[in-house]
Amino acid sequence: MSDEILVINAGSSSLKFSIFVDADDTPEVSGNIDGIGQHQPARIVLKDAAGARLPTHGKGEVADHGQALLVAIDAMAAHYPDHSVKAVGHRIVHGGADLAEPTVIDAPVLAVLESLVPLVPLHQPHCLNGVRAAQAAFPDAMQVACFDTAFHRTMPEINQLCPIPRRFFDEGVRRYGFHGLSYDYIASALRRDHPALAAGRVVVAHLGNGASLCGMRNGRSVATTMGFSALDGLIMGTRSGHLDPGVLLHLLDRGMDAAELSQMLYHRSGLLGISEISNDMRVLLESDDPRAAQAVEVFAASLTAHIAAMAARLGGIDALIFTAGIGENAAPIRARVCEGLAWLGLDLDAAANDSGQERISTADSPLAALVIPTREDLPILHAVRAQLAARG
Ligand code: AMP
Repeated sequence: MSDEILVINAGSSSLKFSIFVDADDTPEVSGNIDGIGQHQPARIVLKDAAGARLPTHGKGEVADHGQALLVAIDAMAAHYPDHSVKAVGHRIVHGGADLAEPTVIDAPVLAVLESLVPLVPLHQPHCLNGVRAAQAAFPDAMQVACFDTAFHRTMPEINQLCPIPRRFFDEGVRRYGFHGLSYDYIASALRRDHPALAAGRVVVAHLGNGASLCGMRNGRSVATTMGFSALDGLIMGTRSGHLDPGVLLHLLDRGMDAAELSQMLYHRSGLLGISEISNDMRVLLESDDPRAAQAVEVFAASLTAHIAAMAARLGGIDALIFTAGIGENAAPIRARVCEGLAWLGLDLDAAANDSGQERISTADSPLAALVIPTREDLPILHAVRAQLAARG
């Protein structure tokens, strides 16, 4: 039996999990449960260290992320019966204005995290269900919280202010930013593999189901497109991104209530809302329907404009990094965006873009464009190891 670290990432209706053994950064086993709380059978995928699928039993409905963790533990135990989980690392969506460093979770910390639920009611409860289930399943294990907001705590205050009466800032209505674990990983990958670029002005485009940009100077967050909530900025799979607040006032006037607006903005807008076909970029890129083409066009135009705005905030741009599902896989989207930024000095290498190279700009392009696969689990794993080492 060896010492293991379990890393958990609770998304809105999914749970990603990985088990790491000793000093290895490749998980011994990893997986994903989808369709949590959707009143339909959940789907579970389990993979071994080489990434090969492992068989799992079908699972019925999985009501919440706590139950999902138990399902994950069962599935892993079927293949790896000798578990000895020494510590669990959790991705926690919100650390508020104060929690920035990875933090060992005890009762007072859990109370602080619960007090932040009103800021992110649709996401934080899932993370905390995961924490409670892990505490119950592994009562002797250290539990460590790593925050999606933490990477952006270096943003200057002017980039945290919302242009509404100042008193709301003190009540917590400020721009926090998210996807921080992904940005943390990309910053460290750049430092390791491209130190000259890492020291400069970099815009990272995290383009998954949720999508945002981070403007970095010398590897630290200066600005980001998500703000108080995970709704702001870029158009996403089912989320609106930036939207004229007058539209919301109009819909409220017409009788929609807050719950209906929330459902619409988080789950029925974005690519799905415009196309009325799918939130999945693969489906839209393959579709002949003009509404799908329009959704792709609006997505690419919004992305291009936000990157240019972020470059202005940074006072110029040395590198553009694409990551996450769309960023890593959707060459046609990358091509549109890079072509739209030619005036900023981006010279796309179309062949490199189409063949999955890391550098997709030409060798002498003044603005470098790279594709770097993200690993949100790694900053969590490394933080847990550091906490274990610090506590002997
Ligand atoms: P993530 O949230 O990072 O897992 O990204 C999920 C999204 O990535 C999916 O909804 C797809 O829209 C997109 N995606 C994944 N693979 C591809 C692909 N080959 N082409 C276009 N989009 C993709």
